[in-house]
Amino acid sequence: MFDFFGQNIEYLKGVGPAKAQTLRQEAHVFTYGDLLTYFPFRYIDKGHFITISQIRDDQSYVAVKGKILKVESKGFGKSKRLSAVFGDGTGTVELTWFSGLKWIEPKIRQGVYLSIFGKPSIYNHQLQFSHPEIEVIDPNKPDQPQSAGIQPLYPTTETMKNRGLSPKAMAAITQNLCKQAEGSIPEILSQDILSRYQLMSREQAFIQVHHPLSLAHADCARQRLKFEELLLLQLNILKQKMNRGKTPGFVFTKVGDNFNYFYQNNLNFELTGAQKRVVKEIRADTRTGFQMNRLLQGDVGSGKTIVALMSMLLAVDNGFQACLMAPTEILARQHFASISKYLNTMKVRVALLTGSSTKKDRTVLLNMLADGQLHLLIGTHALLEDNVVFKNLGLVVIDEQHRFGVAQRAKLWNKNSVPPHILVMTATPIPRTLGMTLYGDLDLSVIDELPPNRKPIKTLHLTDHDRLKLFAFMKQEIAKGRQIYVVYPLIQESETLDLKDLMDGYESISRAFPIPDYQLSIVHGKMKAEDKEFEMQRFKKGETQIMVATTVIEVGVDVPNASVMVIENSERFGLAQLHQLRGRVGRGAEQSYCILMTADKLSKDANERINTMVATNDGFKIAEADLRLRGPGDLQGTQQSGLLALKIADIAQDENIVRAARHTAVEILQQDPALASPKNQALLREMKKNGKENFWAKIS
Ligand code: ADP
Ligand code: MG
Repeated sequence: MFDFFGQNIEYLKGVGPAKAQTLRQEAHVFTYGDLLTYFPFRYIDKGHFITISQIRDDQSYVAVKGKILKVESKGFGKSKRLSAVFGDGTGTVELTWFSGLKWIEPKIRQGVYLSIFGKPSIYNHQLQFSHPEIEVIDPNKPDQPQSAGIQPLYPTTETMKNRGLSPKAMAAITQNLCKQAEGSIPEILSQDILSRYQLMSREQAFIQVHHPLSLAHADCARQRLKFEELLLLQLNILKQKMNRGKTPGFVFTKVGDNFNYFYQNNLNFELTGAQKRVVKEIRADTRTGFQMNRLLQGDVGSGKTIVALMSMLLAVDNGFQACLMAPTEILARQHFASISKYLNTMKVRVALLTGSSTKKDRTVLLNMLADGQLHLLIGTHALLEDNVVFKNLGLVVIDEQHRFGVAQRAKLWNKNSVPPHILVMTATPIPRTLGMTLYGDLDLSVIDELPPNRKPIKTLHLTDHDRLKLFAFMKQEIAKGRQIYVVYPLIQESETLDLKDLMDGYESISRAFPIPDYQLSIVHGKMKAEDKEFEMQRFKKGETQIMVATTVIEVGVDVPNASVMVIENSERFGLAQLHQLRGRVGRGAEQSYCILMTADKLSKDANERINTMVATNDGFKIAEADLRLRGPGDLQGTQQSGLLALKIADIAQDENIVRAARHTAVEILQQDPALASPKNQALLREMKKNGKENFWAKIS
């Protein structure tokens, strides 16, 4: 069969070897198929002109008709530039060109009528267009210019523009492609699906998405292509899940002595309904004879650790070992400390392994692990090392999964011939549509209920001007016996600058909170693990009242007496991170506060983030705002899911299409699990293409 999609881009009319090279390098366009899926990011109706008085500098592309009033060329040689004053009777703008003057200069003459098209900006208090598209017009003919109509706008890099691939040139090339596409793009969806969702045909969709007859046509085309893309993604995910469901797993037949003893004697509070439900789900999973792959999602403070511990006891009762892996040393220690405490008076042996375990300790520990004397191992990435060998690892718990990649998860698998059950815990709330897609290869459990008697955290926004007010408030809370976190952002690229921020902040706090009335702790990434631990312990024991820290405390630290979280430069944090940080307080019975410090002036996005935090404590609402503000590309975890490979659909915006695609995928696989029937062959071929692309995207 003739493969239109596979044709080499070089042979398309208007491309040729040089432009093909640029397309490959800059846009990863190798074939006709790549170009067909190189979608315009928007369309402009160039038939729609506005007047200069209607232009605002935050507008994107606009079209204006007018006359050149004055021309000026400045500089010489390479730094030469051309500028012109352009007016339409309602106002004037400046047009400027820095390159390609040879072509432009002859056209730009005083008194010439032009239609211009471009993106307005402000320069030296003057509205200007830099490198607008122009067309010379005859003012006596009203329906000019000729090229009016709907124009697709393609993403282009500087290099592309310099090598003859401007957005306009790209549009000309796709025009040629669309002409050839007619009669060459077979349908892959059944008539049934097409009519149920009223979808445009595949061929029409690919043509209309590039060169639509109207904006409404473009919209229909996009709907169809989004549906197709999401359907293929869902089919791939569901297939993976079907295959995975067949991996044999250990059978935990009984609830034994350890589990029961713990539940009756050591658990000093009632589990929430949600915690009970999740424990049941895990018990059911581990009885099936297949491997469990479950994601446990619960807001910060919802009590995931207990659920993890009870699952691990279940493994121990059935003769297996279990391990818990945390993303940082501090967290691993914290888990070790609280789990050891929970297991007080029980015979379950638990140990800690991290990068800073001594060689001597390590040797003893590894021996006990290998001969099965050790039941539970808690640690960091150190658990993944080759010399960590379990006698019979039955369950792996991974805390805060976004810090671990798929490859690391797989590595834990390989420690057994039969893979252990996997429980992944995350506090990052995921909007439901996204969860459906993102973690489609995991079963999902949600703890959607906080332990009782928690007072909602009060969140306030203060600016740098309110610092005295802030210090006064902090003193007031400390006088009541509370403890306080003050957190500074840590951004990898400028670690030294961040450290300076932290140290400056520490100094000013030291001055406002002098010894001996106040004691301060400081923790940051450049400190040795044992020093960090020492400071954490002092704070935990209540020996210090203020903990000044970078985001190392982001995850999991549990100090119930700490009731105030001050976040400095909070405009530099993302929503998910702000929510995580806020979750460090509100763990005791006292009223807790989160104070977001920012500069006076905030960008629109930063302002919305801060307002969202002030308005709600609900992790799901925050996740939804996050998705809306940033798109799924930046959400934690999306890198692993193939979601980033989406070319046209947008998980945040296209919720309804996600649902329809999900529903359709389930239906197709129910009728034809192997996708063996003739009518599903075209779909299967496309799926395989897609799956392969995602695979390469993952390993590169
Ligand atoms: P997460 O890991 O989900 O953020 P943790 O497991 O650290 O939450 O629990 C937060 C705090 O709540 C801990 O101090 C824990 O002992 C306590 N806790 C957990 N479950 C309950 C419950 N059902 N009732 C009361 N307190 C609970
Ligand atoms: Mg936790």
